[in-house]
Amino acid sequence: MGTARQMAHNLEEQHTLGQDQALARLNAIPSDIEKYMWLRLLLEEKPSEYYRLLTSQTERVLPFIYTPTVGEACTRYFELKQRPQEPRLRPKGLFLSLEDRGRILEKLRSWPQQNVKVIVVTDGERILGLGDLGAGGMGISEGKITLYTIAAGVDPSVCLPVCLDMGTNNKRLLNDPMTQYQGLKRERATGAEFDSFMAEFMDALSQWQPHVLVQYEDFGNTNAFRLLEKYRASHCTFNDDIQGTAAITLAAILAALRAVEFDKGNSGINRAGKQIDSDEALGSGQLLAGKQVLFLGAGEAGTGIGELIAYCVHRRTGCSMNEARKTCHFVDSKGLVCASRMPDLQHHKQAFAHDTPYCKTLLEAVRLLKPVAIIGVSTIAGSFNEEVLREMAAINHRPIIFPLSNPTTKSECTFEEAFKHTEGRVLFASGSPFDPIFVPSQSSGNASQPALAGDGILMRPAQANNAYVFPALGHAAVLARCSSISDEAFLTAAEALAAMADPKMVLREGALFPPFSKIKDTSSHVMAHVMACMVREGRGLRPEGVAVQQGPAKASDFLPHCLAHMWLGPGEKAPEAAVE
Ligand code: NAP
Ligand code: MN
Repeated sequence: MGTARQMAHNLEEQHTLGQDQALARLNAIPSDIEKYMWLRLLLEEKPSEYYRLLTSQTERVLPFIYTPTVGEACTRYFELKQRPQEPRLRPKGLFLSLEDRGRILEKLRSWPQQNVKVIVVTDGERILGLGDLGAGGMGISEGKITLYTIAAGVDPSVCLPVCLDMGTNNKRLLNDPMTQYQGLKRERATGAEFDSFMAEFMDALSQWQPHVLVQYEDFGNTNAFRLLEKYRASHCTFNDDIQGTAAITLAAILAALRAVEFDKGNSGINRAGKQIDSDEALGSGQLLAGKQVLFLGAGEAGTGIGELIAYCVHRRTGCSMNEARKTCHFVDSKGLVCASRMPDLQHHKQAFAHDTPYCKTLLEAVRLLKPVAIIGVSTIAGSFNEEVLREMAAINHRPIIFPLSNPTTKSECTFEEAFKHTEGRVLFASGSPFDPIFVPSQSSGNASQPALAGDGILMRPAQANNAYVFPALGHAAVLARCSSISDEAFLTAAEALAAMADPKMVLREGALFPPFSKIKDTSSHVMAHVMACMVREGRGLRPEGVAVQQGPAKASDFLPHCLAHMWLGPGEKAPEAAVE
């Protein structure tokens, strides 16, 4: 017994040493892009060390396999070399180009992985905020797919990143020999050419892997909305830029609004520490009903979030979708979106053109609408200026301010500005990370100010990271062999995530989400709720071994199955059950 324990101890020490060494080696590499390259090499040469590092140091490693570094990796995809004497960065994923027309299925059938359950696919037209990077977009599919494994425990051997090469309109890639571009050197396919290639790809997938989950990523705006509408009913597919963003933002809004109600002494809302089945008791419809949420920016992200908020109000209060959309108002580059602008409005804005007076600026709109929250998805840095922030703080006891534009240089305001101009009362989430603010204990805390303890507290700005939602939702779809993904699934994911926030911690430290270091615990909770939703809707199947209980499917029925199907890195601790 003593010896066994000693051996276990020694093993543990070796593990820790291994992790520290790998992390130390990573830290010693001077540039971010070289760190990215080193991690790619580690994956190729010592996969178990790679996954040990990723699963034990997720937060530290993530920036070098995903944003922000993946942006540079996509930009320079074809010039990057693993080592000076070696061939170019070897893609992990599958390129399919217009030249493969007519034989996509054949290419899929000859790919080394023949049991694929998750695909992330891009055409590289709108990579992050960087625009058209053509076939270099492969980097985004490769980065995002890794999150399925490290955030929601999908076995990496069933994950496939795909890049559809349909040409590029990026002149630098087409003309500059320095980029060593290996994608198709032609203008992007549009219209019928684009559509028929996509159709062949989607049909081939259905024949090759009938239950595969397909995540659309970083397609250009017009195609993104169109593809989603075209394939969402017939395939197990979603668009993370539209729907994933919507769910994470709704989760943050609900967590913040619940804290606001708690702060007002509305104890009916206080479910702190108690996990509940989301659609039964969270009261998300009531939290939002009759309130105004104001957006700066009415593009893919903004209107996607607006639609999910409206869907939430519609489903949870019973009012019509049109009535529910009145919760959301948008200011775009020309001012407030309203009925008088109707003839000139783009299609995706029209449903939000309410019968309100026109205002030219965000400040005027804030004064007119008195929103509980402002959401920045405009890419205009500084647009949540001092006046706007002060006005929000005058209207709301705990104003909700979410500057979501990326990267940091485009954020509508910084955390510091939001904190300062609201006297520290802000409930904040941003797209890009900001440093925490230390509030020393001298400043007196009371019910309306963040409570202070000890020598002070760290106010942590929450980051609205889609990785809290899409990997869990996707893994749930795979486990339930879901036929299509509904808005209800995204609403359920948002509610389940919001229910994990403790209102006291939200008010005290700004913790709208659980820490990312506990992402697999969080994901298993979200997965169980989403699986139950998919089964209730009849889109998903109850997996073998999940006992049929009385009444509609509940998250707690599915949690053991979710936990049992979490792929873990070497030495990684299994996630803990979070659903009661
Ligand atoms: P998009 O489709 O290009 O939309 C941008 C919107 O901003 C458009 O409606 C545009 O107005 C508006 N706009 C531009 N200049 C403006 C101004 N001066 N005043 C007011 N509105 C202005 O972009 P998107 O895909 O929605 O993304 C927007 C931002 O959100 C990006 O920075 C992205 O990184 C960020 N984002 C964050 C997350 C996250 O945090 N999880 C997720 C997704 C996206 P017009 O319509 O009049 O041109
Ligand atoms: Mn994206």
